[in-house]
Amino acid sequence: MSYQLLKEDVLFYQRFLKANGFYHDALNGIWDSNTNKADADFVTASASIAEQMGKFDSRSEGNIITLIPKAQTEARKFLKLCKDAGKDVRIISGTRTYAEQDVLYAQGRTAPGPIVTHAKGGQSNHNFGIAWDIGIFNNGSYSTNDSDYIALAGIIMSGTTTLEWGGNWHSLKDNPHYQLKAVSEDVTVVRGLFENGEIYV
Ligand SMILES: [Zn+2]
Repeated sequence: MSYQLLKEDVLFYQRFLKANGFYHDALNGIWDSNTNKADADFVTASASIAEQMGKFDSRSEGNIITLIPKAQTEARKFLKLCKDAGKDVRIISGTRTYAEQDVLYAQGRTAPGPIVTHAKGGQSNHNFGIAWDIGIFNNGSYSTNDSDYIALAGIIMSGTTTLEWGGNWHSLKDNPHYQLKAVSEDVTVVRGLFENGEIYV
């Protein structure tokens, strides 16, 4: 999703802003002056992270802006590690609203295409702004080779204690997926905190 779409789901965005200290008022789904101020503060904080940590390709940038600030910092560290290792890696997916997650969940079930997720809306760390999916590009072309993603994870995961890799999952391994460790491994706990605007990472 894009930053513009994030803003369109006002209740979702208020939760996102409140859990990260930008918004302090009612979670009511109404875009008022307090929400507007929180949004502006979030944009300023995001720009400052980009300034400190460096910028990347436009597709990655468009997805990084949908992550919570802590995840933005980690995503930029991540891309820097990839770059230093001589790999062309881009973040091709960031935050999804619950509605977008439900559309993805339908794929392979009630909609055409293969099953790509076990998570409905509110069951994926993509719904809380702490997960991203990558594409690896070899000479500019998108790689679908598991071996490329596994090799990269070897580099990334040896240097981090804050990230989790989807390739370590037991069911439906997800090699392009990375996420921040949340306060609980139980996604229902994380969801509860997110929906109340409380911190979860
Ligand atoms: Zn993912």
